[in-house]
Amino acid sequence: MPDAPPGPLWLLAELTYACPLQCPYCSNPLDFARTRGELTTEQWIGTLREARQLGAAQLGFSGGEPLVRRDLEELVAEARSLGYYTNLITSAIGMDAARVRRLKDAGLDHIQISFQASDAALNDYLAGTDAFAHKVEMARAVKAEGYPMVFNAVLHRQNIDRTEEILALALDLGADYVELANTQFYGWAFHNRHRLLPTREQLRRSEAVANRYREAHGDRMKILYVIPDYYADRPKPCMNGWGQVFLSVAPDGTALPCQAARMLPGIEFPKVTEHRLAWIWNESPAFNRYRGRDWMKEPCRSCPERDKDFGGCRCQAWLVTGDPAGADPVCGLSPHRGLIDRVVEAVNGGGAGAVNAGGASAAAGAGTAGDIPAMLFRNARNSKALHS
Ligand code: SF4
Ligand code: SF4
Repeated sequence: MPDAPPGPLWLLAELTYACPLQCPYCSNPLDFARTRGELTTEQWIGTLREARQLGAAQLGFSGGEPLVRRDLEELVAEARSLGYYTNLITSAIGMDAARVRRLKDAGLDHIQISFQASDAALNDYLAGTDAFAHKVEMARAVKAEGYPMVFNAVLHRQNIDRTEEILALALDLGADYVELANTQFYGWAFHNRHRLLPTREQLRRSEAVANRYREAHGDRMKILYVIPDYYADRPKPCMNGWGQVFLSVAPDGTALPCQAARMLPGIEFPKVTEHRLAWIWNESPAFNRYRGRDWMKEPCRSCPERDKDFGGCRCQAWLVTGDPAGADPVCGLSPHRGLIDRVVEAVNGGGAGAVNAGGASAAAGAGTAGDIPAMLFRNARNSKALHS
């Protein structure tokens, strides 16, 4: 068994899978509606304490929508007393000005608000509900309370042409950081990838806008731009390596090296209700499964990049190739890169007409265009239907 790293630096507390929105790129598992139960307040507090003892210093409250939990303020206060730097990752639905103040009083350090687009029509189509006006109001409330604010927008084929308007909105709202994160294709996004992957030309234009904004406004607003890895030829160092710095705890207490990993086959992920976190991190078979190099196959096993990118993402390898121990298929050295290229080509050439049809201008759940399935929105009904 490889040596476990000293301890996680990051803890992501996915407090609930409940969410009033239904983003079609949501990273929650497709079968989220089948998971039963949520940790109690006491169980979360115990988890925060154990993770802090292990060395975790950064804590993200996420979901689903973490504001659904009425005990959020209590958990924030506990996190503060334990010495975490805390971040709330939210859609802002479930927030009002009084709650923004209460969270501040409880010691919350940082808020990240996600926007689906820069205007109400597209934002609310993608969110599946009227959310835009409230998000704008809450972003202003967050700034009025003096929080550092991250404005997050997941970019994809349906909204990437509005990069300029999205950045203008972020600037107007006084965002300190903007995260323009092109969709990564797991969970619901993988299911919808033919409709969400932008074209090469869209991506080029969008990056140029982001660079222009950086030059003009970089002193007021830091911009992080994440490209879709389907357009890269080397994979990202996913999570900085399996079980190296990141620990995620799902609403039902399942401990994961990344929030997408519970889809992987043949791994029994331990629960914080059944094991101590120290055992989970240091000794559990799940957290040791892809540590070190012994699990690697060729071409990663003998590749000079293997200690930099760790062979890429296990979830992407599993989703695209069916082999979770293979090289991430976005890698140009992977024998399966052709599976990614086929999607890229469909979006940029042959399948583009079909891919263009429908989308934001079509009603949610409208039929299919060509052989491209209709956009599937993340909600309990679709989750149950997929796994009935
Ligand atoms: S991505 Fe959208 S649907 Fe998924 S948890 Fe976040 S706000 Fe909810
Ligand atoms: S072959 Fe493996 S280790 Fe080498 S660059 Fe590709 S994914 Fe990374």
